[in-house]
Amino acid sequence: MKAALLFLSMALAAASAAQQQTVKPAASNEQLPPISYVCPMAGDEEVIEDKPGRCRKCGMELKPIRLDSIWTCPVHAAVIKDKPGTCPLDGRELVQVTMAVSWTCPNTTIDSMSPGRCSDGSPMVKKFKPRAHGNHNPQHGGLFFMAPDNWHHLEGTYRNGGVFRMYLYDDFTKPLARDQVRQMTGRVITKSGASFPLVAVQNGRYLEAKIGKLPFPAEMAAKLKFKTISPEHHFDFTFPEYSKEPVAPRLTDNAATPSKQPPMAQSTPSNVGSASSASSAVASMPAPAEATSPTGIDPGLIPLPIPDTVPEMLAQLSQRTEQIRRFIDQGAFANVYVPAFQAKDLALALDDRKKDLRPEHLKIAEPAIKRLVRSAWLLDAFGDMGNKQQITEAYTQFAAAVKDVESVFPGRR
Ligand SMILES: [Zn+2]
Ligand SMILES: [Zn+2]
Repeated sequence: MKAALLFLSMALAAASAAQQQTVKPAASNEQLPPISYVCPMAGDEEVIEDKPGRCRKCGMELKPIRLDSIWTCPVHAAVIKDKPGTCPLDGRELVQVTMAVSWTCPNTTIDSMSPGRCSDGSPMVKKFKPRAHGNHNPQHGGLFFMAPDNWHHLEGTYRNGGVFRMYLYDDFTKPLARDQVRQMTGRVITKSGASFPLVAVQNGRYLEAKIGKLPFPAEMAAKLKFKTISPEHHFDFTFPEYSKEPVAPRLTDNAATPSKQPPMAQSTPSNVGSASSASSAVASMPAPAEATSPTGIDPGLIPLPIPDTVPEMLAQLSQRTEQIRRFIDQGAFANVYVPAFQAKDLALALDDRKKDLRPEHLKIAEPAIKRLVRSAWLLDAFGDMGNKQQITEAYTQFAAAVKDVESVFPGRR
């Protein structure tokens, strides 16, 4: 179900990118992912623009890059596929990540933005490079967040029997070195206010707190210090049920044999979608499946084309606002980015129509649209970080901006 949803969202992203981009494909028939402009500064990976300029965070000049959404094994990043499926190494469902695409020649340092020929006449080889923050997928069936330091990532699981377990990762979603995990201190606080120490177990493979059995949805907050002197970070978890470690459905002979393809230089037959927006590039994944309805895909997770008329835009904006509120209520923070980004795109579409407004309405619309775009961006960022208070504050700003926008644009008659 998740795979189908992602595939749909990718198809839509690719369609809209195709409309917006004027990048000419190379001589071959291959569709290239569009050129994006990213900040070279570590920690600014979420800055992804569609035109050159300066970084909105640090002011450095943006660098061109081609970003592509590809599919990889949850724990074997060397496997690269152009569509959903199962991992040939362990049989688990592939996850979608964002990587930089470029072309090179064997035994050279050539790193070309477009395919071409090498000096010996052979075609250049496509290569994929993982990006920091390109993979926000949980690896143990839990809830995945990014720390405010923009480097650490973590995943909380609530295990059968009432143990909260936290896995720690770096900026490339690689498990953190055990000595780093052993330096961490923290606690888990349940809704009733009870506090449980979070301690490194298994020599630092993960942190655990024995909190006992709670009724579902089980709400708890983890407070964590990465080092003795670092600030304490706060993460809010809502588990709809016990987390389930994904297991290989069946390990066939075929699956046990590693792919013979050279891992990072496999050419894909076609562009599988393009990471043209920050939302897909900082690929917060929709959903541990249990956070969505068992009967189908949550409509909040389905990107839609921006409608043509102002009343339709307003109607969609109102739906998106409702979806964001619902995800926040459910504690499904990692899902918030989908409706938030769609709301941002709707705001920008409305911005194009503001010239038809009366001057006194224009005075309200202009700042309201700005606030709407900014708060949608904050919702995306805070959703990744899993702090309920910050998300709720961003939502309050967002909802107020939506109200102002609705008050000045002509709605449905
Ligand atoms: Zn920057
Ligand atoms: Zn990240």
